[in-house]
Amino acid sequence: MRVWAELLSTPTADTPGTCVQVHFDDRRYILGHIAEGTQRWLTERKSRGGKLSDVFITGRTEWATTGGLIGFILTLSDQKKDKRVFKWTTVHGGENLLHMVASTRSYVLREQMLLKVDEQVEGITPPFQDHNVTVTPLYVRPTGDPLAPVPPSPKLSPAAGEKRERDESMSRDERIQFLAQKVKDMFFKEQQSVNKTGNEGKEGAPKVNEVGEPPMKKGRGAQGADTLQPSQAQSEMLPPGEPSNIALSYILIMNDHRGKFLPKVAISLGVRPGPDFAKLASGEAVMGKTGNMVKPEDVMEPTRIGAGIAVCDIPEACYIDDFLSKPEWSNTEKLQKRLSCFFWILGDGLQEDKRILEFMEKFPEASHVVSSRELCANHIRFTGAAKFTQRLNYLDPVCFPLLQSSLEPAKPAPEGTLAARSGMRRILEPEWIWEERFDREFDGEKALESVRALGPSFDEVVTDIHQSLASDPVPAETWPGSDAEVITLGTGSSLPSRYRNVSGTLLRVPGVGSIIIDCGEDTYGQLRRLLPPDELEAVMFDLKVIYISHLHADHHLGAVSLIKERTKLLLSKPDPNNNTIFIVAPHRFHNFLDEYSSVEKIFSSHANRQIYVPLESLIPPPYTTLATPQNRENLKQLLDSLSLSSWRAQTAYHCQDAFTTAFTFKNGFKVAYSGDTRPTHRFTLLGRDATLLIHEATFDDELLAEAVAKRHSTISEAIEAGMQMKAKVTCLTHFSQRYPKKPKMVVGEGGDMDVVYAFDSMRFRVGEAARFRRLQKGLEEVYKDVDEDAMDAEEEGREEEEEEEVKEEVKPVKEKKGKKEKQQQQQQQQKLKKSETRRERTQRIKEEDRKCDESGMSVDAMIKELQEIPKRKKDEKKKEGSGINVDAMIKELMESPKKQKEMGKQEARVMQGRRDRLRRLDSVPDEPEK
Ligand SMILES: [Zn+2]
Repeated sequence: MRVWAELLSTPTADTPGTCVQVHFDDRRYILGHIAEGTQRWLTERKSRGGKLSDVFITGRTEWATTGGLIGFILTLSDQKKDKRVFKWTTVHGGENLLHMVASTRSYVLREQMLLKVDEQVEGITPPFQDHNVTVTPLYVRPTGDPLAPVPPSPKLSPAAGEKRERDESMSRDERIQFLAQKVKDMFFKEQQSVNKTGNEGKEGAPKVNEVGEPPMKKGRGAQGADTLQPSQAQSEMLPPGEPSNIALSYILIMNDHRGKFLPKVAISLGVRPGPDFAKLASGEAVMGKTGNMVKPEDVMEPTRIGAGIAVCDIPEACYIDDFLSKPEWSNTEKLQKRLSCFFWILGDGLQEDKRILEFMEKFPEASHVVSSRELCANHIRFTGAAKFTQRLNYLDPVCFPLLQSSLEPAKPAPEGTLAARSGMRRILEPEWIWEERFDREFDGEKALESVRALGPSFDEVVTDIHQSLASDPVPAETWPGSDAEVITLGTGSSLPSRYRNVSGTLLRVPGVGSIIIDCGEDTYGQLRRLLPPDELEAVMFDLKVIYISHLHADHHLGAVSLIKERTKLLLSKPDPNNNTIFIVAPHRFHNFLDEYSSVEKIFSSHANRQIYVPLESLIPPPYTTLATPQNRENLKQLLDSLSLSSWRAQTAYHCQDAFTTAFTFKNGFKVAYSGDTRPTHRFTLLGRDATLLIHEATFDDELLAEAVAKRHSTISEAIEAGMQMKAKVTCLTHFSQRYPKKPKMVVGEGGDMDVVYAFDSMRFRVGEAARFRRLQKGLEEVYKDVDEDAMDAEEEGREEEEEEEVKEEVKPVKEKKGKKEKQQQQQQQQKLKKSETRRERTQRIKEEDRKCDESGMSVDAMIKELQEIPKRKKDEKKKEGSGINVDAMIKELMESPKKQKEMGKQEARVMQGRRDRLRRLDSVPDEPEK
C-alpha cells in the first residue's frame, strides 16, 4: 500500500488558501482551507474528487477558510452524480460551519448530493475514525490579550423584504439541530412542496410558487441551476449566532497495520495447522509439539505503526501559546514515531516566531512545511488562461495587460523548514520520503515562445494592426461615459473553467467610482491578478456598488470577499467620505448577507457600512414590490452618491428573482446589463439608448434550442438586443464553457454599434471600443492554432483516466458492469438520436419562443399580467403615471377592449404552447451546462 500527503494549494491570488490531500487507494481526505478558487484550481489540476470522502477545514470558520466550499460542493455533486463512485462526502469543521452552509440555502440545492456537515464541538465530538485513519481535532483559542468578547453582530441596515422573524429563544442545542436540519434539507431530502407558512405540503400536491405559476424546469449542472423557491428557502430565518474565534488544527494518523501471519515459521516451531493457527493470529500463545510456548510475535510480522501528518493552522500570534499547550502534544515520544510531516498554515510573520521554531525541534525526524503568504510566491495557477492572455497581450497590450505575479517568495523559509509548494508529495507508506514533484508553474518565457510559434503570418497580422493603430489611431469618442472603463474579470458561465472564470465585470467611472457588476467566485482574485497593487487599492477604495443580477452561484460567490477586503482596507485607512457600500441585489441576497453576518462581521458600521437596494423595488410600477420608505431612501442615497439620475430593473426571463437592469448617470451616460436572460422586450425598452450594453451571450447561434431550454441568449440575440436598444457599445460576455477559449464570433453584425467580445482580464474605455474592429483579425489569429479536436481528445483522455480509477474502485461488482456499459451505450445512442431531432426542432422552438415574447413580456410575466388585469383595473385610477414605456404599452393594451379580447385568446394559446413546450423539454435529456 502506498499512502501519501500532497499539498494541493498554497496562497496565491488565484487560490488564497492552503490545503493538503491525503491519498489512500480507496479514499481521499482533504485538510486545510477550501478557499475561493479551489474548484477552478482542481479543474486545472484535473482532480475530480470522485474518491473524496472527508474534508477537514482548519482555522476559524470564516470566508477565508470556507469561501470556496459552496462552489466546491456544487462541482463535486455534479461529478459524483455522473460517476457514482463515492457517494458521501463529509465536511468537518469548527463552530458555525452549519450556520455558514445553511445561510446559502436560498441558492444551493443538490438533492442527489450526499453531503454531511459535521460541526465539531470540543468535548463532545469524538475524533473521526474509519478503516484508514484517525483524525483528531485540536481546538485552539486566542490567549494573551484579554480575551475580548466578540462584539455583537452589527445592527444591520433595515433588511429589505418581507418580515421574517428570528427566533431568539432557541437554546444552543436546539439551534444546532435546527441548522443541521436546514443543511440536511439542502442536500438529500426529496424536494417537497412547502407552503408559505413553512409547513410541508402533502405529497403529490402540485408545487406552486408564490405567483401561482408552475415551477420552473430545473436545470442541471450549472452552478445554482437548482435553487429553492423563495417560499421554501425563506420561510424561516436562521437563528442568530456569534462569530467564533476557535481555530482548528488536525492530527491525522493512519491506523496501525497488523503484520502477516507466517505459517511456515509456525510449523517450524512445532505448531499444528488448524485451531492453533487461528489462536496465534488472534493474539493468543499456544503450545508447540515439544511443549514449547509459541507466542504470536514469534510467528507474525511486526505490526506497522501508522504514520501521519499534522495540519497546524495558526492564524495569529495570539493562538500560539494555546496551540503549544494542547494535551495532544504531551506524548511527544509516541508522536515522534508517527508524525512524518507537519504542514504549518501560518498568519503573516509567524514563521519566525521562536516558540514555533522550538516546537519544531521536538520533531527532528519529521518534515516541517510552512505555508504562508510571505513564504509562497504568487505563482499563476490558471496557466491555460495566462497563456492566452500572454498572446493577447502581444496583439494589444492596451486591452490585454499582462498578469501580476511573482516567481520568488517575499521571504526565505526559516532554517530546517521547507516553504510550501503546490504539488509537493510526502510519502507516508511504505517509507517517509519526499517524492520529487511539483505542480507546473507558469512560465512567461515559454508562453512567449508559443506566441512566436504561431508563425510569420501571425506576426504579419500583428504588425499590420500595430502600424494601423499608430498611423491612424482609433478616435476617442467624447460622448458622456466614453472615458468610463470596462474591466472584464470573469467571462464564462456556469462553472469556472481553465480559460474563463465565472461572471465578474468592473466598471470604473472617473470622478464617480467603481461598480462591480456580478461577481462570481474569486472575482477578487482576478482583480488581484490583473491590477498592480496601487491600482487595486484605488479600485477597492472607490468601489461604491456591488450589483448582483440573480442568485445563481456563478454570479455572486465572490461578493463576501470583496466586501471583506474593502472593510479591511477602510479600517486601516479610514475615509469618512467613502464609508458606505451599496449592495444592489435581489432581496434574498441581502438576507444571505445578514444571515452570514452571524459567522463573521463583514461590514463595519463606521468604515464600510452596507446600504441595501433590493432590485424588486426598482421595477417600474405597478410591479414594484418592497418599495418601503426605507428602500426609497436607500435608492435616493445610491443615486446621490453616484451622481445617477435613475436606476431601474426588470424581471429577467431566466429564473426566480433574476433581473435585468439599466442605470443612467446625470451626465447622460447610460449602462444596461442583461444578467442572465432570454431576450425580452421589456429589457429592450429599459435599456433604450444605452451608451454601453453588457449582455450575456451564453450560447453560439447554432445552440438556440439549448439557449431557449436553459433561458440564456445566443450571440446574435445579444447583438440584436443592442441594435434594438440603439446602444453605442455592446459588450458580450458569460460565454458557455463548452467553447472555453473563444466563442464563435459573428463578424460584421451590429452596424454602427461596436461589438466587443469579452475575455478574462481585458480592459477598454467605452469610447474606444472601436479599437476591437481593428483587432478582429488578430483575435482570430491568436486562437488559430487551437485545435478543438485536440482539446476534446485531451478531455476524453482525462475522462478515461478517471474511468480507470472508477474501475479500480468497483472491482467487486465488475461483472455487473458489462450490463451497465451496454445500458450506457444504449442511453448514449438514444441521446444522439434525440440531439439530431433536437436540431430539427430548433426552428420550431425559436418560433414559439418568439411568440411567447411577442407581447413584450416573458410567458411568466404575461400570465401574471393577465391574472392581474381585473385587480389592476381597479387600482389604475389611484396610480400615478410612471412614465415608463412598458407601462404605457400595457396601459394601451388595457384601454383597448378589442386588444383585451385578443389577449384572452392569446393567454389560452400561450398556456397551451407553454405546456407543450415544457413537455417536450422534459423529454430532452438534460445535459450539464458546462
Ligand atoms: Zn443564471
